[in-house]
Amino acid sequence: MSDPARSERPSTEGDRPSLHFIEQIIADDLASGKHGQIHTRFPPEPNGHLHIGHAKAICLSFGLAEKYKGLVNLRFDDTNPEKESQEYVAAIRRDVQWLGYKWNGGEHYTSDYFDQLHAFAVDLIRKGKAYVDHQSAEDMAAQKGTPTQPGTNSPYRDRSVEENLQLFEEMRGGVHPDGHCVLRAKIDMAHPNMHMRDPLIYRIKRSHHHRTGDDWCIYPMYDFAHGQSDAIEGITHSLCTLEFEVHRPLYEWFIEQLEIFPSRQIEFARLNLDHTIMSKRKLLRLVEEGHVDGWDDPRMPTISGLRRRGFTPESIRTFCDRVGIAKRENVIDFGLLEWALRDHLNRTAMRAMAVLDPIKLVITNYPEGQTEDLPSENNPEDPTAGTRTMPFSRELWMERDDFREEANRKWFRLAPGKTVRLKSAFIVRYVHHIVGEDGRVEEVHVEYFPDSRSGSDTSGIKAKGTLHWVNAATAIDAEVRLYNRLFSDPNPDGHEGRDFTEFLNPDSLEIRKGCKLEPSLTHAEMGTPYQFTRLGYFSLDEMQSQEVGHPVWNRSVTLKDGWKG
Ligand code: ATP
Ligand code: MG
Repeated sequence: MSDPARSERPSTEGDRPSLHFIEQIIADDLASGKHGQIHTRFPPEPNGHLHIGHAKAICLSFGLAEKYKGLVNLRFDDTNPEKESQEYVAAIRRDVQWLGYKWNGGEHYTSDYFDQLHAFAVDLIRKGKAYVDHQSAEDMAAQKGTPTQPGTNSPYRDRSVEENLQLFEEMRGGVHPDGHCVLRAKIDMAHPNMHMRDPLIYRIKRSHHHRTGDDWCIYPMYDFAHGQSDAIEGITHSLCTLEFEVHRPLYEWFIEQLEIFPSRQIEFARLNLDHTIMSKRKLLRLVEEGHVDGWDDPRMPTISGLRRRGFTPESIRTFCDRVGIAKRENVIDFGLLEWALRDHLNRTAMRAMAVLDPIKLVITNYPEGQTEDLPSENNPEDPTAGTRTMPFSRELWMERDDFREEANRKWFRLAPGKTVRLKSAFIVRYVHHIVGEDGRVEEVHVEYFPDSRSGSDTSGIKAKGTLHWVNAATAIDAEVRLYNRLFSDPNPDGHEGRDFTEFLNPDSLEIRKGCKLEPSLTHAEMGTPYQFTRLGYFSLDEMQSQEVGHPVWNRSVTLKDGWKG
């Protein structure tokens, strides 16, 4: 099997894999005694469902805690009440657990620290390091300057500590309307880093919070809440994506001014996948505008979508591992994610037979009314997986594209003059076929060789092709959904002046109805993957099955990488 990521695997010294740069930092910190134990965290904002990019961050922070026997917190970064909800909290928890991780450092909420954060803000004011600004947002933006031009000081910058304390107390007490004033850090309006030009740290927002209700009408800004939460929790290594690199001086400034636990922020490159988008805001649009079935639509790059599609936690963790941790941004081929799934399922999935576009296959010399049970291996890669029996009789279903009315020497499936093996059954030879009024083939008639039974074949006949089939009388009727890339463009978000929805792939979902599955699949359960012989890996979609009233199966991935992008 080809491995598209072979070249991206971490280099190895002998047989010991080398450490990536964050592991190196941690190993050094433990060796020098800077920390006796590491403590990381994953800090999602509960404003949407987690996606495969978050999986990378989860695998990193949880994986490091596991590897170095440290602690890891799940922290809901819930400082923006308008967009957040308890429903997202529950979904995030479920997704992290499903990936196979436990937050042994506890479940935390930034909102639990609102009192402490407020006290930190008061402390900053007391130290003369924060002030209340009454200007409009536009005026403040205009004073900000540009990266090459210094900003100008606010006329409110030199208010006395007493006045600031009084005003901040009024903000907290609900004296001022929303947006009337803000609390800003007093740093340097000429600082070369724009984030250091007196950033906002508190704003007034009368909004119901999913946990603190109406207790607060002021909320801390991300930069103020995030770093201070790290300190409160004693996080040793605070890992985040590269876009936060420019926030690091501010992160460190707060630590210094407040004299709190010195968490260290370390940035790594975010995961970018081709043919997809990964911003929660945009994923929400796909849901709200009805382009997909919901957050867990099997075409979505969300953890819940991948789960419904039939991805396994192991395959996602392998994928994240192969992607690696680096400082440089790059775009990963969606095929790598599929490769990881195939690699896992090839070893673990049970085999079964299904016919997606059925036509009748009649064995003319097989006695009418007779059925025999033929054994078939559940997984040739796993000798412990055992066998199951497949009923075989005179009438079977075969795949429409496995028959041609005319074929050349290179066609190893059925056609006039051809002989093939039916998987785990007998060798059959073409006799004739019946064409319906619409010109389509309706039935193929063959005769079988009774002494060619798989496992005890004494016929001496050679058949080059092997076809899958399902016994007609006992087949389960099902719907099968085949998926393709959600976007036909590799970079749907990368076209100036054009909306990413313009690049949605109109063929991302193909629904096949009237498919025929072997009867052992009656007992299939959601979350148990199967390899349908010659067709790919599939898993039952219980939710959709209930909704439409018959079994629905999702193709998780094809057997080979067939995408031509
Ligand atoms: P989005 O841009 O999708 O809305 P976000 O960064 O706003 O994502 P958060 O809930 O704040 O979402 O993210 C939680 C953590 O996941 C952050 O530490 C963030 O750096 C990380 N993260 C988000 N997207 C990616 C990605 N594509 N690759 C790696 N890590 C990511
Ligand atoms: Mg964010």
